[in-house]
Amino acid sequence: MRILITNDDGIRAPGMEALVNVASKFGEVKIVAPDRERSACGHSMTMRDPLRATPYPWPGIEAIEVNGVPVDCVNVGLTVAWPDGCDLILSGINNGPNLGFDITYSGTVAGAMEGTINGIRSISLSMALFVSGAPIHYETGAAWLEENWEMLVTAPQGRLSFLNVNIPSIAYPELRGHRITQMGQRVYQDRVEARSDPWGRIYYWQGGVVVMEPNQPGTDVQAVDEGFVSITPVSLDWTNHELMKQLETEMRSREK
Ligand code: MN
Repeated sequence: MRILITNDDGIRAPGMEALVNVASKFGEVKIVAPDRERSACGHSMTMRDPLRATPYPWPGIEAIEVNGVPVDCVNVGLTVAWPDGCDLILSGINNGPNLGFDITYSGTVAGAMEGTINGIRSISLSMALFVSGAPIHYETGAAWLEENWEMLVTAPQGRLSFLNVNIPSIAYPELRGHRITQMGQRVYQDRVEARSDPWGRIYYWQGGVVVMEPNQPGTDVQAVDEGFVSITPVSLDWTNHELMKQLETEMRSREK
């Protein structure tokens, strides 16, 4: 199995090492990843600047660092590392959750989106850590992935779809299993904070505190909160098919 691995935390991130170590047991891995952290870049791509692909020393594995974002890395990877295509694209393991609306900001998820657009089975993986400064249990993510590899890579693929996986950042024996989930809602409060610099000028810092809707049964948010790995099938078809039907009916009723 030919595997391309990227992430948005950069090629040096510990989550990359954890993911590469597991994937190497199941196929030939090539790494193409950003040369620095590019978290929250979403599904952006670099078009106005040249992309440089530089070999990165990784024992036994072809690894390339790119001065771009995950989308760039997937596309450069499919040009340079796997010019004849590959069988699987993995993005992660991200340092932090990608739940609910966060997936629209996520560079990790964007890596899997780009793989999907290229017609390749893709999976994004993130450690769902909620207390800043707490240890990130990448070893839990790695152990779970190894245990469930076969299920993930042979699962029905669906149309224009990929799997977004979030693993609770807890010790492996504490994991309660995994759930297939739908996208929940993760809303931030006090998103923009006004601060002042040493010269008294106001600047703004975007972050915010997550306000968890407590009761979201069946969602990614609730699954990880209860200690389950969340597996959300995400579709790149953003059409709201239900609303489409309603609009058609509505418009037809207004026709003369
Ligand atoms: Mn990240």
